[in-house]
Amino acid sequence: MEKVQLKDKEFRKFLAYEKEILPAIEKVAAQLNQDYKDKNPLFVVVLNGSFLFAADLIKRFNGACEVSFIKVKSYEGTSSTGAIKELLSIEEEIKDRYVLFVEDIVDTGNTLEYLINSVKVKNPASLKIITLLFKPEAYKKQMKVDYVGMEIENKFVVGFGLDYDGLGRNLKDIYVLN
Ligand code: 5GP
Repeated sequence: MEKVQLKDKEFRKFLAYEKEILPAIEKVAAQLNQDYKDKNPLFVVVLNGSFLFAADLIKRFNGACEVSFIKVKSYEGTSSTGAIKELLSIEEEIKDRYVLFVEDIVDTGNTLEYLINSVKVKNPASLKIITLLFKPEAYKKQMKVDYVGMEIENKFVVGFGLDYDGLGRNLKDIYVLN
């Protein structure tokens, strides 16, 4: 599919799963296999958008690890509102753990800042961010985004877990607003 229509908006194919998305995931997985071998990291998957990315990434991690989920909401339509709501919290003990947040996309960095601040106070051994997509032009924070699959332009994308008003998460490839 070269084009998809979701509600009032048309999107065109932007990143193909086999050619672009999967190699980016494999690159990040290789870095994690080096950096977190024997550390039993706690992957914290940031729902909903990163569920497909997290599945592909975490199954490529070779060592012992644990997986948890957090659900936050920050977006209405196609622009960031800034406000963040926590709908599901991490249950696992964070103290002295190697925590790795798994994000679908980092845009303004508001969500990231919220996530980091909420976990930092629990004294993890370390706290790092993994994101499939990063929009450097939209990013407004200073914190380092540690593991980036791909940098993209400041455009609204859907597919591979990312939605437009709830739709499009099932698309295998990533599409951009036309
Ligand atoms: P931030 O807090 O960095 O501005 O935005 C992070 C969240 O906004 C992401 O986790 C994602 O849910 C949503 N978001 C940001 N950019 C996009 C985009 O281009 N497409 C979609 N579908 N969601 C986005």
